[in-house]
Amino acid sequence: MTPNREDYLKLILELGGDQQKINNKQIVSGLAISAASVSEMVSKLVKEGLVKHTPYQGVQLTAAGLQKASALIRRHRLWEVFLVEHLNYSWNDVHDDAEVLEHVTSSTLAERLETYLNHPKYCPHGGMIPSETQTIHEIKRETLSSYPVGTKIKIARVLDERELLDYLVSIDVKLHEEYEIIDVAAYEGPITIQNEEKTIPISYKAASTIFVDQV
Ligand SMILES: [Zn+2]
Repeated sequence: MTPNREDYLKLILELGGDQQKINNKQIVSGLAISAASVSEMVSKLVKEGLVKHTPYQGVQLTAAGLQKASALIRRHRLWEVFLVEHLNYSWNDVHDDAEVLEHVTSSTLAERLETYLNHPKYCPHGGMIPSETQTIHEIKRETLSSYPVGTKIKIARVLDERELLDYLVSIDVKLHEEYEIIDVAAYEGPITIQNEEKTIPISYKAASTIFVDQV
């Protein structure tokens, strides 16, 4: 599937492009496409006033770009809630279908869906669901990898990324669970977390994409 302009806007936002500049390389790896297609799309987005481009630094969303990306993420996350709560999807396999549905959802449908779901505030991955007029503003949190041994944490949000989610399912880590960090191995080795029921070593790579609250 060739990513369209909305996929670009959404990725730029997910990489933090509402507050900082995102370079083309990050977009290339995020969408798995050629550098040439990225530059081509970036110039289109600049012409349409959706992003600002600073040479050698990257792109940042304009207010209009942020609004558009937020609306899309809103639809994506509402569908995720629907698929998980009503159609028995697990949090690691909602992504692809939510990806298709978000593009065919009018604002009326999104609004009805939101009411039907009783106005959920978060998606199954802990991401914020904005209202129709709001823009995305994720709560700023540190990742699991940034805390020392002895810290008590609660899993608050994870990146909506298939590989990571499959991994979390395989090691049985879920959102909202509480743990204590009992070991941090040297040289970016695994981080071990524990609660009354389980002791789990998590790879450093995964731990750096899991956002936690201190408890
Ligand atoms: Zn999600």
